[in-house]
Parts: sequence; C-alpha cells; structure tokens
Amino acid sequence: MKVLVAVKRVVDYNVKVRVKADKTGVELANVKMAMNPFCEIAVEEAVRLKEKGIATEIIAVSVGPQNAQEQLRTALALGADRAILVQTEVDAEPLAIAKILKGIVDQEQPGLIVLGKQAIDGDNNQTGQMLAALAGIGQGTFASVVKVEGGKAQVTREIDGGLQTVELALPAVVTTDLRLNEPRYASLPNIMKAKKKPLDVKTPADFGVDATPRVKTLKVEPPAERKAGIKVKTVEELVEKLKNEAKVI
Ligand code: AMP
Repeated sequence: MKVLVAVKRVVDYNVKVRVKADKTGVELANVKMAMNPFCEIAVEEAVRLKEKGIATEIIAVSVGPQNAQEQLRTALALGADRAILVQTEVDAEPLAIAKILKGIVDQEQPGLIVLGKQAIDGDNNQTGQMLAALAGIGQGTFASVVKVEGGKAQVTREIDGGLQTVELALPAVVTTDLRLNEPRYASLPNIMKAKKKPLDVKTPADFGVDATPRVKTLKVEPPAERKAGIKVKTVEELVEKLKNEAKVI
C-alpha cells in the first residue's frame, strides 16, 4: 500500500513571530522555517506503517516555494521514499492545495493519505477535510491512534471530552493530532541518503489547478501586550489587592 503524506513549510514553532509594520502579515524575511509539527507526526506515522510492513512506499508532497524542497528532504531523511514538490510562489489556500493533492491521489492511487490536522501558520484545519470530500473518500481527523488492517483503517479521534473510534474503508484521509506519536530525529547518514532520493517538481497547472487566492487578508494584528505585574510584600496586601483591585475574591 502506498501512503501519501502532505508536508507544509512553515515558520519554525520556536520562532516568536512578528507582525509586519504595515500589518499585512507576519515577517518571513530571515526567519527560520521548518516542517509543520503536525506534518512531522504524519511522516512518522507513515514510517511506522512501513516498518510494520503495511506501507510499501511513502510519497511526501509539498505545495510551496522552491525552498520547500528542504522540508521534503527532511521527510525523505525521516523515511519517505520519494517526494513531489508542486512549486508555486503564490501563498496557496487550503482549497487549491486540496485540489492539487486530489490530482496527486488520482495519479498515485495511495491507500492512505496522511496530513497534519492543521498548519501552525494559517491555523486553517481545512485541507484534509476538503481533500476527502473532493476525492469522495472517508476521513479520520484529529487521530491519536491509527490501525490499518484488512483493507480498513481504525482511527481513534480526539474529540471534546473524550475519544471516538471510527472505521474507514481504504483509501482514506487521516489527519494527525499531537498525541498520535513522537516523531524521531533524522540521523546524519539518513540525511545524506535523502539527498539521492527522487524529488519531482511539478506546478499547480500540471493538475489543472489555478492557485490564485480567493481570500484577501485585510489585516494581521499581534495579541494585546500583557500588563506588567507587581510584587506584593505581604499576604495581607495580596488579599487586599485581589479583593479591591482585581475583584476576584
Ligand atoms: P491547514 O488546513 O492549512 O491547517 O493544513 C492542514 C494540513 O494540510 C497540513 O498539516 C498539511 O499536512 C496539509 N497542507 C496544508 N498546506 C499544505 C501545503 N502547502 N503543502 C502540503 N501540505 C499542506
């Protein structure tokens, strides 16, 4: 069974993002970029399926600028067999990405398509759901356990206040939640080997997709700054302030 994994290049989660002075977006110049953390979990899950002998080939896909090749090479170093970059300088929206992924699904016919539940830049949480709808296949979103057996996938989903387990006929889409697994680090020999693995470059037009954005960002604002705290000298002073200033007791 082939497994397709979608990986997005985003600002590294350790970076404190800064809003541009003109409020049109966040500063990306000279900022460290990395693979979206939920996509790392998606790659790890695919690699574990291959280690169990369930997956036979892992294909990593990214839609983005030329340097998204870096994140694809990371996926290859972690265990993907080959990669496809659908290159575009446009900041493609989930619908365009889902349409492109649908084109790849049609060509590659994977048994399972694994995506992150959300990309930490746009926080959209849309692409996996849209892909499943476009492909007319089932979806198990926010997965914290995935079991593949007998042409079916059992997915335990993290939902409000509990867990739900669903069974999906394959092919199906799975989106990863934080607790699905703990991704491994790429070893140096695997990073070297990854340089020789195949990486195809395509364009949205190859899949008949116009990636022009349909949504215009009007403005981006940072959260309100927290007020500085104060130090109190005594418990009595603390109680007095909580009662009369904060009015919480
Ligand atoms: P989103 O719907 O934008 O929150 O993204 C959810 C998931 O869709 C991500 O974790 C990726 O697995 C996939 N995805 C989103 N954007 C891209 C992209 N440009 N290239 C590849 N995969 C993507």
